[in-house]
Amino acid sequence: MVLARAELHTMDDLLAQAWERISAKLNSMFGDAIYRSWLKPIQFAGSDANKILLSVPTRFMREWVNQHYIAQIVQLWQCESAAEGYIVEMIVPPPSENSIQPTVAPQVKHEASNDTAASNVIVPSNWSPGESADSDMQMGATLDPRYTFDNFVVGKPNELAHAAARRVAESPLVVPGCNPLFLYGGVGLGKTHLMHAIAWHIRRNSPERRVLYLSAEKFMYQFIKALRSKEALAFKEHFRSVDVLMIDDVQFISGKDSTQEEFFHTFNALVDQNKQLIISGDRSPSDLEGIEERVRSRLGWGLVADIHATTYELRLGILQSKIDVMRDINIPQKVVEFLAHKITSNVRELEGALNRVVAHATLVGRPITLETTQEVLHDLLRANDRRISIDDIQKQVANHYNIKVSDMHSARRSRAVARPRQVAMYLSKKLTSKSLPEIGRKFGGKDHTTVMHAVKRVEELMASDQEMANDVELLDRILQN
Ligand code: ADP
Ligand code: MG
Repeated sequence: MVLARAELHTMDDLLAQAWERISAKLNSMFGDAIYRSWLKPIQFAGSDANKILLSVPTRFMREWVNQHYIAQIVQLWQCESAAEGYIVEMIVPPPSENSIQPTVAPQVKHEASNDTAASNVIVPSNWSPGESADSDMQMGATLDPRYTFDNFVVGKPNELAHAAARRVAESPLVVPGCNPLFLYGGVGLGKTHLMHAIAWHIRRNSPERRVLYLSAEKFMYQFIKALRSKEALAFKEHFRSVDVLMIDDVQFISGKDSTQEEFFHTFNALVDQNKQLIISGDRSPSDLEGIEERVRSRLGWGLVADIHATTYELRLGILQSKIDVMRDINIPQKVVEFLAHKITSNVRELEGALNRVVAHATLVGRPITLETTQEVLHDLLRANDRRISIDDIQKQVANHYNIKVSDMHSARRSRAVARPRQVAMYLSKKLTSKSLPEIGRKFGGKDHTTVMHAVKRVEELMASDQEMANDVELLDRILQN
């Protein structure tokens, strides 16, 4: 009983964490100004039966959020497995006792709860305890049909992970030295793709083997839910009856002691029974934070294979393979190379960029060119360019104005060096994510107000002086290419 109550508490913790993630995503979706006014004040206020309660300070705000942002909020909740089967409800907490006359309070409370009903939105559920779990996939996650070995492009950065995944998928028994198989690498580099590919392969070629794939987050969620509904035993049996268990993004198990414990037991039970385990994480087992030492060392017992950042060749290969299956689309080689060259962060972004370019061309019915590509992807390319360093900017600007790079750090005030220095500060603010004090330090230890002044001054000059505007825009473009 005591345990159950502790776990109920954990469910709210999970939802609170989910809300933090959602809130951050809302910030990047709507920008700082809207976020600060309307979205930041929304707080996760707990859960009640199947309701997720989000509180806003006033009724007016609730109306506004319901009219403008609720669809996105609900959509983001749908991506969180902890929220499955929940309804989102926006509430306005009743005023605190000492701020209002006691006689009025009940009425306020009544009103508030009366019209919250209108703001319920359902988060659809895929599985909940109590339903028969006859198919493994009901408890696990659905597999993406595109994530197969056939669609996986192999290159230097992922060849070990790929070879190990294939080996495990093709072997009818546990592969010696490969249990568990631990795949790790940064986001968007193909971990989930490889895991789904293993599952597809086994399902097709050895349908009698029971494969269960799920995210670590979902594992925790299922476990906690099973505890709440007193089905912990069925939960354990279910997990321990599979032949191949895959847990994706194991870093999300961190910190939750009782789930780690359960994970550890399940893990040991499966290995003892000679079942295959495949785990993924965003870093190597020994670097996982918030995970108990014995769990970490157990994770590293088998084969640990990392996926490295993509290379230009791999990116080109991936783009080519995606383009090969698109019909009636003509993408100039120049554009393909441009994308492979520019979108270096991860494969997911690379795919997204390609899809955007193609979608745009289809919609407007115009051929794809380098210019339209740059236009369509301008925000993405900008984000990429945030990796431009202040050193690059100083070099480029000094070169353009024919001054020495050391003048960027000097205290000389003559206009011939002061103006270019201001331009470089302006561009540093615009093209990097450095703060004003950080920029100041890079310019020979100047104060942040000096940088702020420079930014303002250059903006003014650009508005009034065409030549200045051309200069700065040219530099901006050169630096972004
Ligand atoms: P991760 O799980 O490591 O964050 P994903 O497996 O979700 O990354 O991969 C992100 C996207 O990139 C997916 O759409 C996936 O199909 C694609 N992808 C990643 N690596 C490759 C690859 N080597 N070949 C083809 N597609 C890839
Ligand atoms: Mg993944």
